[in-house]
Amino acid sequence: MRGRELRGELDAFLAESEQDLVAFRRDLHMHPELAFAEYRTTQRIAERLTAAGLAPSVLPRGTGLICDVGSGDGPTIALRADIDALPLQDEKDVPYHSTVAGVCHACGHDVHTTILLGTSLFLAQQAAAGLLPGRVRLIFQPAEELPGGALEIMAHGGISGVDRIFGLHCDPRVDVGQIGLRNGPITSACDKLAVKVSGPGGHTARPHLTADLVFALAKILTELPAALSRRVDPRSSLSLVWGKVEAGSAANAIPDDGVAEGTVRCLDENAWHAAPDLIKSLLESVAGAYGVEATMDYTRGVPPVVNDEVSVEMLTEAAERALGAGAVVPTQQSLGGEDFAWYLESIPGAFARLGTRSPDGFTYDIHQGTFDVDEEAISMGVRVMATTALTALWEVGPLDSITSALA
Ligand SMILES: [Zn+2]
Ligand SMILES: [Zn+2]
Repeated sequence: MRGRELRGELDAFLAESEQDLVAFRRDLHMHPELAFAEYRTTQRIAERLTAAGLAPSVLPRGTGLICDVGSGDGPTIALRADIDALPLQDEKDVPYHSTVAGVCHACGHDVHTTILLGTSLFLAQQAAAGLLPGRVRLIFQPAEELPGGALEIMAHGGISGVDRIFGLHCDPRVDVGQIGLRNGPITSACDKLAVKVSGPGGHTARPHLTADLVFALAKILTELPAALSRRVDPRSSLSLVWGKVEAGSAANAIPDDGVAEGTVRCLDENAWHAAPDLIKSLLESVAGAYGVEATMDYTRGVPPVVNDEVSVEMLTEAAERALGAGAVVPTQQSLGGEDFAWYLESIPGAFARLGTRSPDGFTYDIHQGTFDVDEEAISMGVRVMATTALTALWEVGPLDSITSALA
Protein backbone atom coordinates (compact mmCIF):
# COMPACT_ATOMS: atom_id res chain seq x y z
CA MET A 1 0.00 0.00 0.00
CA ARG A 2 2.77 2.44 0.97
CA GLY A 3 4.49 1.68 -2.34
CA ARG A 4 1.55 3.14 -4.25
CA GLU A 5 0.97 6.10 -1.94
CA LEU A 6 4.61 7.09 -2.05
CA ARG A 7 4.46 8.19 -5.67
CA GLY A 8 1.59 10.59 -4.92
CA GLU A 9 3.42 11.96 -1.89
CA LEU A 10 6.50 12.60 -4.03
CA ASP A 11 4.35 14.30 -6.68
CA ALA A 12 2.95 16.65 -4.05
CA PHE A 13 6.38 17.34 -2.52
CA LEU A 14 7.98 18.08 -5.89
CA ALA A 15 5.10 20.26 -7.08
CA GLU A 16 6.01 22.52 -4.18
CA SER A 17 9.80 22.13 -4.11
CA GLU A 18 11.02 21.58 -7.66
CA GLN A 19 11.60 25.26 -8.52
CA ASP A 20 13.35 25.80 -5.22
CA LEU A 21 15.64 22.82 -5.86
CA VAL A 22 16.51 24.07 -9.35
CA ALA A 23 17.40 27.46 -7.81
CA PHE A 24 19.53 25.71 -5.17
CA ARG A 25 21.42 23.82 -7.90
CA ARG A 26 22.01 27.00 -9.91
CA ASP A 27 23.37 28.74 -6.83
CA LEU A 28 25.85 25.90 -6.27
CA HIS A 29 26.71 25.96 -9.96
CA MET A 30 27.54 29.67 -9.74
CA HIS A 31 29.73 29.12 -6.66
CA PRO A 32 31.68 25.90 -7.29
CA GLU A 33 34.33 24.85 -4.77
CA LEU A 34 37.25 22.45 -5.20
CA ALA A 35 37.90 19.28 -3.22
CA PHE A 36 38.22 19.87 0.55
CA ALA A 37 37.39 23.57 0.05
CA GLU A 38 33.60 23.13 -0.09
CA TYR A 39 32.94 25.43 2.90
CA ARG A 40 30.17 27.54 1.37
CA THR A 41 28.50 24.49 -0.19
CA THR A 42 28.59 22.66 3.15
CA GLN A 43 27.10 25.69 4.94
CA ARG A 44 24.29 26.02 2.38
CA ILE A 45 23.35 22.36 2.79
CA ALA A 46 23.58 22.53 6.59
CA GLU A 47 21.32 25.62 6.70
CA ARG A 48 18.63 23.90 4.66
CA LEU A 49 18.76 20.68 6.69
CA THR A 50 18.65 22.57 9.97
CA ALA A 51 15.66 24.61 8.77
CA ALA A 52 13.90 21.29 8.09
CA GLY A 53 14.42 20.25 11.72
CA LEU A 54 17.37 17.92 11.05
CA ALA A 55 20.71 17.95 12.88
CA PRO A 56 23.59 17.85 10.37
CA SER A 57 27.08 17.08 11.62
CA VAL A 58 29.79 18.88 9.64
CA LEU A 59 33.10 16.99 9.33
CA PRO A 60 35.99 18.42 11.41
CA ARG A 61 37.73 20.22 8.55
CA GLY A 62 34.52 22.08 7.72
CA THR A 63 33.73 20.50 4.37
CA GLY A 64 31.17 17.74 3.93
CA LEU A 65 28.55 16.60 6.41
CA ILE A 66 26.59 13.64 7.67
CA CYS A 67 22.97 13.80 8.84
CA ASP A 68 20.57 11.11 10.05
CA VAL A 69 16.83 11.15 9.41
CA GLY A 70 14.64 8.89 11.54
CA SER A 71 15.73 6.77 14.44
CA GLY A 72 14.80 3.62 16.30
CA ASP A 73 16.16 0.09 16.12
CA GLY A 74 15.30 -0.42 12.45
CA PRO A 75 17.86 -0.77 9.69
CA THR A 76 20.03 2.10 8.44
CA ILE A 77 20.31 2.95 4.76
CA ALA A 78 22.85 5.51 3.57
CA LEU A 79 22.44 7.80 0.56
CA ARG A 80 25.54 9.58 -0.70
CA ALA A 81 26.12 12.67 -2.83
CA ASP A 82 29.50 14.21 -3.68
CA ILE A 83 29.73 18.00 -3.44
CA ASP A 84 33.05 19.12 -5.03
CA ALA A 85 33.72 20.83 -8.37
CA LEU A 86 36.57 20.59 -10.89
CA PRO A 87 39.56 22.85 -11.65
CA LEU A 88 38.45 23.83 -15.15
CA GLN A 89 36.88 26.82 -16.85
CA ASP A 90 33.08 27.02 -17.25
CA GLU A 91 32.51 27.57 -20.98
CA LYS A 92 28.71 27.70 -20.94
CA ASP A 93 26.67 30.71 -21.96
CA VAL A 94 23.94 30.38 -19.30
CA PRO A 95 22.77 32.81 -16.59
CA TYR A 96 24.02 30.41 -13.89
CA HIS A 97 27.57 29.91 -15.20
CA SER A 98 30.40 29.72 -12.69
CA THR A 99 31.45 32.98 -11.02
CA VAL A 100 34.79 31.46 -10.01
CA ALA A 101 37.52 31.57 -12.66
CA GLY A 102 38.93 28.13 -13.41
CA VAL A 103 36.44 26.23 -11.25
CA CYS A 104 33.33 24.52 -12.60
CA HIS A 105 30.74 21.90 -11.63
CA ALA A 106 31.57 19.92 -14.75
CA CYS A 107 30.93 16.50 -13.21
CA GLY A 108 27.36 17.22 -12.06
CA HIS A 109 28.10 17.09 -8.33
CA ASP A 110 25.92 20.22 -7.89
CA VAL A 111 23.07 18.09 -9.26
CA HIS A 112 23.88 15.14 -6.96
CA THR A 113 24.01 17.49 -3.96
CA THR A 114 20.66 19.08 -4.85
CA ILE A 115 19.04 15.69 -5.36
CA LEU A 116 20.21 14.50 -1.96
CA LEU A 117 19.02 17.76 -0.37
CA GLY A 118 15.56 17.30 -1.94
CA THR A 119 15.52 13.68 -0.81
CA SER A 120 16.50 14.74 2.72
CA LEU A 121 13.67 17.29 2.91
CA PHE A 122 11.15 14.71 1.67
CA LEU A 123 12.39 12.04 4.10
CA ALA A 124 12.24 14.55 6.96
CA GLN A 125 8.53 15.02 6.13
CA GLN A 126 8.05 11.24 6.05
CA ALA A 127 9.79 10.84 9.40
CA ALA A 128 7.67 13.62 10.95
CA ALA A 129 4.55 11.78 9.74
CA GLY A 130 5.82 8.56 11.34
CA LEU A 131 6.29 6.89 7.94
CA LEU A 132 10.02 6.11 8.06
CA PRO A 133 10.59 2.50 9.19
CA GLY A 134 14.24 2.99 10.18
CA ARG A 135 17.04 5.44 9.72
CA VAL A 136 18.44 7.09 6.60
CA ARG A 137 21.98 8.45 6.76
CA LEU A 138 22.56 11.34 4.39
CA ILE A 139 26.18 11.63 3.34
CA PHE A 140 27.26 14.87 1.64
CA GLN A 141 30.79 13.83 0.75
CA PRO A 142 33.62 16.24 -0.01
CA ALA A 143 36.50 15.66 -2.42
CA GLU A 144 35.32 12.88 -4.72
CA GLU A 145 37.52 14.20 -7.51
CA LEU A 146 40.71 14.04 -5.48
CA PRO A 147 39.70 11.18 -4.75
CA GLY A 148 39.65 10.48 -1.03
CA GLY A 149 36.56 12.18 0.39
CA ALA A 150 34.95 8.78 0.85
CA LEU A 151 37.85 7.77 3.13
CA GLU A 152 37.36 10.99 5.11
CA ILE A 153 33.67 10.13 5.62
CA MET A 154 34.59 6.58 6.67
CA ALA A 155 37.29 7.82 9.05
CA HIS A 156 34.59 9.79 10.86
CA GLY A 157 32.25 6.82 11.26
CA GLY A 158 30.10 7.80 8.28
CA ILE A 159 29.14 4.25 7.39
CA SER A 160 29.35 2.54 10.76
CA GLY A 161 26.04 0.84 11.51
CA VAL A 162 24.91 1.31 7.89
CA ASP A 163 23.33 -1.76 6.26
CA ARG A 164 23.39 -0.59 2.65
CA ILE A 165 24.49 2.46 0.68
CA PHE A 166 23.22 3.94 -2.56
CA GLY A 167 24.49 6.68 -4.88
CA LEU A 168 23.83 8.22 -8.29
CA HIS A 169 25.95 9.92 -10.93
CA CYS A 170 24.82 12.12 -13.80
CA ASP A 171 25.13 10.37 -17.17
CA PRO A 172 24.76 12.64 -20.20
CA ARG A 173 24.50 9.60 -22.49
CA VAL A 174 21.25 8.45 -20.85
CA ASP A 175 17.93 10.28 -21.38
CA VAL A 176 16.37 12.10 -18.45
CA GLY A 177 13.79 9.83 -16.79
CA GLN A 178 15.98 6.75 -17.18
CA ILE A 179 18.41 5.07 -14.82
CA GLY A 180 21.41 3.08 -16.07
CA LEU A 181 22.31 0.15 -13.87
CA ARG A 182 24.38 -3.02 -13.87
CA ASN A 183 25.36 -5.82 -11.50
CA GLY A 184 29.00 -6.17 -10.54
CA PRO A 185 31.63 -3.61 -11.57
CA ILE A 186 30.21 -0.36 -13.02
CA THR A 187 33.32 1.88 -12.93
CA SER A 188 37.02 1.07 -13.14
CA ALA A 189 40.15 1.33 -11.14
CA CYS A 190 42.28 4.35 -11.94
CA ASP A 191 45.83 4.69 -10.62
CA LYS A 192 48.68 7.08 -11.41
CA LEU A 193 52.11 6.04 -12.54
CA ALA A 194 55.22 8.23 -12.60
CA VAL A 195 58.43 6.81 -14.06
CA LYS A 196 61.83 8.38 -13.57
CA VAL A 197 64.82 7.33 -15.64
CA SER A 198 68.40 8.36 -15.04
CA GLY A 199 71.79 7.74 -16.64
CA PRO A 200 75.23 9.34 -16.97
CA GLY A 201 74.24 11.73 -19.82
CA GLY A 202 76.71 12.90 -22.49
CA HIS A 203 77.23 14.07 -26.08
CA THR A 204 74.81 12.79 -28.74
CA ALA A 205 77.91 11.95 -30.85
CA ARG A 206 78.80 9.18 -28.42
CA PRO A 207 75.66 7.31 -27.24
CA HIS A 208 77.70 4.08 -27.02
CA LEU A 209 79.92 5.61 -24.33
CA THR A 210 77.02 6.70 -22.16
CA ALA A 211 73.40 5.53 -21.97
CA ASP A 212 71.01 6.97 -24.55
CA LEU A 213 68.41 8.09 -22.05
CA VAL A 214 65.87 9.65 -24.43
CA PHE A 215 65.92 6.54 -26.61
CA ALA A 216 65.48 4.32 -23.55
CA LEU A 217 62.61 6.49 -22.32
CA ALA A 218 60.93 6.22 -25.71
CA LYS A 219 61.28 2.44 -25.52
CA ILE A 220 59.68 2.45 -22.07
CA LEU A 221 56.80 4.61 -23.36
CA THR A 222 55.95 2.17 -26.14
CA GLU A 223 57.09 -1.16 -24.68
CA LEU A 224 55.31 -0.97 -21.32
CA PRO A 225 51.76 -0.64 -22.72
CA ALA A 226 52.56 -3.21 -25.43
CA ALA A 227 53.98 -5.78 -23.01
CA LEU A 228 51.08 -5.30 -20.58
CA SER A 229 48.62 -6.15 -23.34
CA ARG A 230 50.39 -9.53 -23.70
CA ARG A 231 50.93 -10.27 -20.02
CA VAL A 232 47.47 -9.50 -18.63
CA ASP A 233 44.13 -11.16 -19.48
CA PRO A 234 42.65 -8.89 -22.19
CA ARG A 235 39.24 -9.15 -20.48
CA SER A 236 40.56 -7.13 -17.57
CA SER A 237 41.19 -4.20 -19.96
CA LEU A 238 44.24 -3.03 -18.09
CA SER A 239 45.41 0.05 -19.96
CA LEU A 240 48.41 2.26 -19.38
CA VAL A 241 48.18 5.63 -21.15
CA TRP A 242 50.87 8.31 -20.83
CA GLY A 243 49.87 11.94 -20.34
CA LYS A 244 53.20 13.67 -19.71
CA VAL A 245 56.79 13.13 -20.85
CA GLU A 246 59.84 15.27 -20.20
CA ALA A 247 63.54 14.83 -20.96
CA GLY A 248 66.43 16.91 -22.17
CA SER A 249 67.05 20.54 -23.07
CA ALA A 250 69.39 20.62 -26.07
CA ALA A 251 69.43 18.85 -29.43
CA ASN A 252 73.02 17.60 -29.03
CA ALA A 253 73.09 16.59 -25.37
CA ILE A 254 71.92 13.30 -23.91
CA PRO A 255 70.23 14.27 -20.65
CA ASP A 256 70.89 12.49 -17.38
CA ASP A 257 67.26 12.19 -16.38
CA GLY A 258 63.72 12.11 -17.70
CA VAL A 259 60.18 11.46 -16.51
CA ALA A 260 56.95 10.01 -17.84
CA GLU A 261 53.57 10.11 -16.13
CA GLY A 262 50.35 8.33 -16.98
CA THR A 263 47.28 6.54 -15.70
CA VAL A 264 46.61 2.85 -15.28
CA ARG A 265 42.95 1.93 -15.69
CA CYS A 266 41.52 -1.50 -15.12
CA LEU A 267 38.11 -3.19 -15.13
CA ASP A 268 39.08 -6.16 -13.01
CA GLU A 269 39.88 -6.17 -9.31
CA ASN A 270 42.43 -9.03 -9.46
CA ALA A 271 44.37 -7.48 -12.33
CA TRP A 272 44.27 -4.17 -10.43
CA HIS A 273 45.90 -5.77 -7.38
CA ALA A 274 48.62 -7.37 -9.54
CA ALA A 275 49.35 -4.29 -11.70
CA PRO A 276 52.07 -2.46 -9.69
CA ASP A 277 54.42 -5.46 -9.39
CA LEU A 278 53.98 -6.43 -13.02
CA ILE A 279 54.64 -2.90 -14.28
CA LYS A 280 57.71 -2.62 -12.06
CA SER A 281 59.28 -5.79 -13.46
CA LEU A 282 58.54 -4.80 -17.06
CA LEU A 283 60.00 -1.34 -16.46
CA GLU A 284 63.22 -2.74 -14.97
CA SER A 285 63.74 -5.16 -17.83
CA VAL A 286 63.26 -2.52 -20.57
CA ALA A 287 65.44 0.04 -18.77
CA GLY A 288 68.14 -2.57 -18.07
CA ALA A 289 68.43 -3.38 -21.78
CA TYR A 290 69.53 0.22 -22.49
CA GLY A 291 71.73 0.73 -19.45
CA VAL A 292 69.57 3.31 -17.66
CA GLU A 293 68.16 3.25 -14.16
CA ALA A 294 64.40 3.42 -13.82
CA THR A 295 62.29 3.92 -10.73
CA MET A 296 58.56 4.26 -10.47
CA ASP A 297 56.11 5.92 -8.19
CA TYR A 298 52.79 4.09 -8.30
CA THR A 299 49.87 5.90 -6.67
CA ARG A 300 46.85 3.80 -5.96
CA GLY A 301 43.60 5.49 -6.92
CA VAL A 302 40.21 3.96 -6.43
CA PRO A 303 39.23 0.33 -6.99
CA PRO A 304 36.28 -0.41 -9.32
CA VAL A 305 32.77 0.29 -7.93
CA VAL A 306 31.36 -3.24 -7.62
CA ASN A 307 27.56 -3.23 -7.31
CA ASP A 308 25.93 -5.78 -5.01
CA GLU A 309 23.21 -7.88 -6.63
CA VAL A 310 20.55 -7.51 -3.90
CA SER A 311 21.09 -3.74 -3.75
CA VAL A 312 20.79 -3.53 -7.55
CA GLU A 313 17.47 -5.40 -7.30
CA MET A 314 16.23 -2.93 -4.67
CA LEU A 315 17.33 0.06 -6.73
CA THR A 316 15.74 -1.38 -9.88
CA GLU A 317 12.47 -2.01 -8.09
CA ALA A 318 12.53 1.48 -6.58
CA ALA A 319 13.40 3.23 -9.85
CA GLU A 320 10.56 1.44 -11.64
CA ARG A 321 8.19 2.28 -8.81
CA ALA A 322 9.30 5.93 -8.94
CA LEU A 323 9.72 6.54 -12.68
CA GLY A 324 7.63 3.78 -14.26
CA ALA A 325 8.27 0.37 -15.84
CA GLY A 326 11.10 0.47 -18.36
CA ALA A 327 12.90 3.32 -16.58
CA VAL A 328 15.92 1.13 -15.82
CA VAL A 329 18.24 0.54 -18.76
CA PRO A 330 21.39 -1.57 -18.90
CA THR A 331 24.67 0.34 -18.78
CA GLN A 332 28.27 -0.60 -19.50
CA GLN A 333 31.15 -0.59 -17.09
CA SER A 334 32.96 2.69 -17.65
CA LEU A 335 36.72 3.25 -17.54
CA GLY A 336 36.17 6.22 -15.26
CA GLY A 337 37.00 6.03 -11.56
CA GLU A 338 34.63 6.87 -8.68
CA ASP A 339 35.52 6.85 -4.99
CA PHE A 340 32.10 5.41 -4.02
CA ALA A 341 34.09 2.17 -4.53
CA TRP A 342 35.64 2.58 -1.08
CA TYR A 343 32.24 2.29 0.63
CA LEU A 344 31.40 -0.86 -1.32
CA GLU A 345 34.60 -2.54 -0.15
CA SER A 346 33.04 -2.42 3.36
CA ILE A 347 29.26 -2.62 2.96
CA PRO A 348 26.88 -3.72 0.19
CA GLY A 349 25.25 -1.13 -2.01
CA ALA A 350 24.69 0.05 -5.54
CA PHE A 351 25.66 2.97 -7.72
CA ALA A 352 23.47 4.03 -10.64
CA ARG A 353 23.69 6.37 -13.60
CA LEU A 354 21.08 9.10 -13.68
CA GLY A 355 19.96 10.13 -17.16
CA THR A 356 20.57 13.88 -17.69
CA ARG A 357 20.19 14.24 -21.47
CA SER A 358 17.09 15.91 -22.92
CA PRO A 359 15.47 13.36 -25.25
CA ASP A 360 16.85 14.05 -28.77
CA GLY A 361 19.01 16.74 -27.18
CA PHE A 362 22.75 17.33 -27.27
CA THR A 363 24.99 14.70 -25.65
CA TYR A 364 27.43 16.52 -23.38
CA ASP A 365 30.52 14.99 -21.89
CA ILE A 366 31.46 15.20 -18.24
CA HIS A 367 34.73 16.89 -17.23
CA GLN A 368 34.25 19.39 -20.07
CA GLY A 369 33.66 23.12 -19.59
CA THR A 370 30.48 22.82 -21.66
CA PHE A 371 28.84 20.12 -19.49
CA ASP A 372 25.25 20.79 -18.43
CA VAL A 373 22.16 18.76 -17.56
CA ASP A 374 18.44 18.72 -18.28
CA GLU A 375 17.32 20.01 -14.88
CA GLU A 376 14.33 17.70 -14.88
CA ALA A 377 16.91 15.14 -13.77
CA ILE A 378 16.77 16.76 -10.31
CA SER A 379 13.19 15.74 -9.58
CA MET A 380 13.79 12.33 -11.18
CA GLY A 381 16.78 11.86 -8.91
CA VAL A 382 14.79 12.83 -5.81
CA ARG A 383 12.09 10.33 -6.76
CA VAL A 384 14.62 7.53 -7.23
CA MET A 385 16.72 8.27 -4.13
CA ALA A 386 13.74 8.65 -1.78
CA THR A 387 12.00 5.55 -3.14
CA THR A 388 15.23 3.55 -2.96
CA ALA A 389 15.80 4.45 0.69
CA LEU A 390 12.22 3.51 1.60
CA THR A 391 12.24 0.33 -0.49
CA ALA A 392 15.49 -0.78 1.15
CA LEU A 393 14.11 0.01 4.63
CA TRP A 394 10.91 -1.92 3.93
CA GLU A 395 12.82 -4.91 2.62
CA VAL A 396 15.30 -5.21 5.44
CA GLY A 397 12.76 -4.16 8.09
CA PRO A 398 10.56 -6.43 10.23
CA LEU A 399 8.50 -8.91 8.20
CA ASP A 400 5.05 -7.51 9.03
CA SER A 401 5.99 -4.05 7.78
CA ILE A 402 7.32 -5.52 4.51
CA THR A 403 4.09 -7.35 3.83
CA SER A 404 1.96 -4.29 4.43
CA ALA A 405 4.35 -1.88 2.71
CA LEU A 406 4.57 -3.85 -0.49
CA ALA A 407 0.89 -4.84 -0.62
ZN1 LIG B 1 34.29 13.69 -12.05
ZN1 LIG C 1 31.70 12.80 -10.58
